[in-house]
Amino acid sequence: MKYNIDAEYLVDTFKRIADVPSVVGYAKKLNPVFEDLAKELGFSVTYDNRNTAYISVSGKNREKKIVFGAHADTIGMVVYKIENDGTLQMRTFGGVMFQSYEGESVRIMTRDGREYTGLIACKSHSPHVFEDCRSMPRDQEHMVVFLDEPVKSKEDVQALGIQNGDFIYPDPRTTLTKNGYLKSRYIDDKGAIACSYAALKYIAENKLTPECDTIFAFPYYEEKSCGGAYVPEGVSEYIAVDIGLVGPDLDGAEDKVSICSADANMPYDYDLTNKLIECAKEVGCGYALDVFYRYGTDGSASFKMGNNLRAAAFGMAVICSHGVERTHIDGLIGTTNMILEYMVRSDKND
Ligand SMILES: [Zn+2]
Repeated sequence: MKYNIDAEYLVDTFKRIADVPSVVGYAKKLNPVFEDLAKELGFSVTYDNRNTAYISVSGKNREKKIVFGAHADTIGMVVYKIENDGTLQMRTFGGVMFQSYEGESVRIMTRDGREYTGLIACKSHSPHVFEDCRSMPRDQEHMVVFLDEPVKSKEDVQALGIQNGDFIYPDPRTTLTKNGYLKSRYIDDKGAIACSYAALKYIAENKLTPECDTIFAFPYYEEKSCGGAYVPEGVSEYIAVDIGLVGPDLDGAEDKVSICSADANMPYDYDLTNKLIECAKEVGCGYALDVFYRYGTDGSASFKMGNNLRAAAFGMAVICSHGVERTHIDGLIGTTNMILEYMVRSDKND
């Protein structure tokens, strides 16, 4: 690898942010962590009105501005209905697969700042009790949250301060194996945020000056396809750093970086994608060029919504996306290397 990335910092940063609830639109808890992390590296965070966190690095060319966007939101749920037996019905944000949540612990955040834990289970939760335990569909109609509180009625739950619309965050279950596999929910896209901070750490320690003004953006609406709807004034490139995919038709792998040439929305910018390929070759990371047709990023969203910019996308590949995902440290380090190389590489089109 061309850049010597602090892998321990990268993984520790991932663990720190993966543990903080940030279901689509819920920025209250994670933005203060972004500020702490930035301060530790000598950077500061600014915000727009959509709660997007920005960290800016001044470049040699102050006329050009680019964004690396890694979305801070995750899939998750809200309380939809409090049942008379004290269980909670849920509704989802983003591509939730309830099969992945059976038996999972969750946190529920109330509007007055209290936090409770609970367990997601199927309504027919025990084979010793329910004939249809194995056959009942695992979906939002048939799965509920059992609060870890002695509640017997709707009123008991309401007395805790829990209301409809409160966010529900399934536990991340983060583990790193000895041989470098990172298993966790929310590698999509907190893996990319951890890479962004690892790149910022390298920039700070090595006094690296990018070619142009570079903004790291952490928006909160990607899982509803509009995290990139707004971009700061003057930004001409939106580079989404987001998960790559692994599958029988794809060349991606967990220890490689995926460069997405097209997604469900559109093909990405031809020249920027070429630049990403050059960066991958330069830093010597394994990479794959793939088409993800059941997938989108804030990059293509920013383009589709009419911003006057070019878009591209790349990032660490995962298996089991939107479940307990898995990637490899080599993919994360490769992604960080590519961010840095992209920043210092002069653009032939300028
Ligand atoms: Zn994502």
